[in-house]
Amino acid sequence: MTAVAIKGWCPSAHRPMQSGDGLVARIRPRGGRLSAAQAVALAELAERYGNGLIDLTGRANLQMRGLRAEGHEPLVEALAELTLVDADAAIETQRNVLVAPFWRDGDDTQWLAAALERALGERSLGLPEKFGFAIDCGEARLLAQASADIRIERGADGGLIVRPDGASHGRTVTRADAVDLALSLARWFLGSGGASGGRGRMAAHIAGGAKLPAALAGDAIPARASPPPAPGVHASGALVGIAFGQMQSATLKFLGQRAAGLRLTPWRMILIEGLREMPAHDGIVADAGDPLLRVVACTGAPACEAAHAETRALGAALAPHLPAAARLHVSGCAKGCAYPGLADVTLVATGGGFDLIRNGTTRDAPTLGGLSRADILADPRAVLEPR
Ligand code: SF4
Repeated sequence: MTAVAIKGWCPSAHRPMQSGDGLVARIRPRGGRLSAAQAVALAELAERYGNGLIDLTGRANLQMRGLRAEGHEPLVEALAELTLVDADAAIETQRNVLVAPFWRDGDDTQWLAAALERALGERSLGLPEKFGFAIDCGEARLLAQASADIRIERGADGGLIVRPDGASHGRTVTRADAVDLALSLARWFLGSGGASGGRGRMAAHIAGGAKLPAALAGDAIPARASPPPAPGVHASGALVGIAFGQMQSATLKFLGQRAAGLRLTPWRMILIEGLREMPAHDGIVADAGDPLLRVVACTGAPACEAAHAETRALGAALAPHLPAAARLHVSGCAKGCAYPGLADVTLVATGGGFDLIRNGTTRDAPTLGGLSRADILADPRAVLEPR
């Protein structure tokens, strides 16, 4: 097991984080959606105040990179005009709502996401910065693997349920009372000691023995979980992959000009509303069979100060050699920001070359160490194929 430092906070628009390529500011589009005008304007802001690079995060947020300190204040003012940031920094941080993207106007997912965001906007509850909510009310649960602490989702009997992450069952609710119950769960989490020093997650709290009161517990089984969808044309529009979850401002502008709105997902994909054909543009992965979709690589060097090596060009170079269905994770350090799960092959940069871990995470013991980039690229199969 490798020990790594964990930052207890995430960047926001109000509080950008210093990175190797300048400040990083996170933007949380309401309902997980950008209108076409917001998308185009954001792309222009990324060019004006940053280095033009935009991340799509695992929580379906956008991050502008390479911001200069003197541009921060005008950026926040511009975001406020676009209604993309709350005036109050604590409210902004708390508005951490992941929305399953295949909603239709007025359905439970869209309605509940808007209602929850309104309720979270009323006052700060004092939740930890990483604490979040998922609204996932389609027939099957799409966000089961995505990070969230309180889930409003579909039950196996077709009704709505509210479930704290880490609990096997949820409580049956109506559309009208789902948000109230979700907020009661959040208050219970705080009141029962789930947070300490600004940190804490629901699943860990429940795993640690915290017992839900009868008024919040339930016995409803969640609906089946569905794996994340693949790029392609879906009923709601065209779902496109974004290589490594990072795009140039020109890509966001291009996508924004194709539809009335864009829906962000936690799977490094963007849904272009209503589009009936797959678009082609630099940085877009349109083919569901593209091996790049099975390669995860964090920001790496030089943009991340903690990185021991560049990651994404190495991941892209290895992608064509990846065995069918295998997943590769290239991480600039043992923190493993880009992917906490198991990968068939994980390469972790260290001060002394790359560690190779099979069927594990960045925290597991390596089977080989000290590999140089040249070693890896000289014989990719030796690294990527099962031994
Ligand atoms: S995992 Fe990657 S992005 Fe995260 S701290 Fe390490 S080098 Fe930076």
